[in-house]
Amino acid sequence: MKEHLAINGGDKSITKNFPWPIYDEQEVEAVAAIVRSGKWGNPDCGDAVEKFESEFAAFCGSKYAVSCVNGSVSLRLALISCGVKPGDEVIVPPYTFITTASSVIECNCVPVFVDIDPETYNMDPKAIEAAITERTRVIIPVHFGGLACDMDAIMDIAKRHGLRVIEDAAHGHGAEYKGKKLGSIADVGSFSFQSSKNLTSGEGGIVITDDDDLYAMMRSLRNVGRIEGGQWYDHYNPGCNYRITQMQAVLLSSQLKRLPEQTQRRNDNGFYLNTLLEKIEGITPLKRSEEITMHCYHIYIFKYDASKFGGLSKNQFAEMLTAEGVPCFKGYPHPLYKQPLFQNKNFMCYAIPETADYSQVNCPVAEQACSTDAVWILQHAMLGEPEDMEAFAGAVRKIQLAAI
Ligand SMILES: *Cc1c(COP(=O)(O)O)cnc(C)c1O
Repeated sequence: MKEHLAINGGDKSITKNFPWPIYDEQEVEAVAAIVRSGKWGNPDCGDAVEKFESEFAAFCGSKYAVSCVNGSVSLRLALISCGVKPGDEVIVPPYTFITTASSVIECNCVPVFVDIDPETYNMDPKAIEAAITERTRVIIPVHFGGLACDMDAIMDIAKRHGLRVIEDAAHGHGAEYKGKKLGSIADVGSFSFQSSKNLTSGEGGIVITDDDDLYAMMRSLRNVGRIEGGQWYDHYNPGCNYRITQMQAVLLSSQLKRLPEQTQRRNDNGFYLNTLLEKIEGITPLKRSEEITMHCYHIYIFKYDASKFGGLSKNQFAEMLTAEGVPCFKGYPHPLYKQPLFQNKNFMCYAIPETADYSQVNCPVAEQACSTDAVWILQHAMLGEPEDMEAFAGAVRKIQLAAI
């Protein structure tokens, strides 16, 4: 059986390519029109950026949106607007992209890592509550892979403790919690438009909010501290130039039109793939509760149990699955607090209190997700057909049969 595996020269389980990004002449024409117009940049050159911002805010059911250069700066805009002060603590998960936590460092604040729930890989509300101190100011839940966090519980904790909540929805474009779009539930929602994300212009980011003051401050910080009605060379706040171009904005407007259909397709494929993988011993898809009215599967995650695969390590398994033609990945190598940035406290000019010590942090669920459990199937593969989901599950079975 082993010789049938694609990694050993056998036939692949699936030979189809899953393209990303998806575009046609509409995108090409939209960008070309801006190039021809010579109006490439904002704020004084054309209205494509503001047009996209209102489209995205409306799509999310939020009052305002402020675009910016990426989904890391967007977190910084949100944090500063929420009024954090040096030394304040910000609660973040350890199973996420680095900038969820490093944006906190860039605000001279202390990221406090709390563990994830083993069934959803999202921050566990009980762990959040236990981590709150008198220095806590903000909670940043990450809707990991596009699966909504338990927002009712998180907003309730925030209300009781007087905290702000920033949703890191970099994986969550178009996904929902109880019928509400991710990013629109807390004080601010932050998104990335980097090339791997479910809505992309190569690079880019955006924040959404219903709050007039947060909106005004995020706009100001994005535009070198200028304010509405102020003079061009009058600067009121410590921002920077984080503006996007008109080319990005029209690309995003075109891509946004495709997003609802793409999200529905990933959602439906995810449901189907759950039913297929659940039947395989040693494979457990993450739990999807009733509150998840739409999942956008930026990452489809399942848990892998090596003991049901003849002891094959997760990394070997992921390599074999990749060789079979399934666009998958073994995920993060370790939780964020294990990064040299935190272990060596390479905080450079940032004023992080001496008391911040990451050498003793231990989040067992995140550790296990990284080392042995979590396997990712990537979003562009979730845009396939139902037959492709069957082929993915078939590839997992094929590896299992060869391994045991
Ligand atoms: C991608 C990502 C970011 C950062 O976005 P960039 O646009 O790459 O800066 C932040 N948080 C999460 C969870 C991400 O996946």
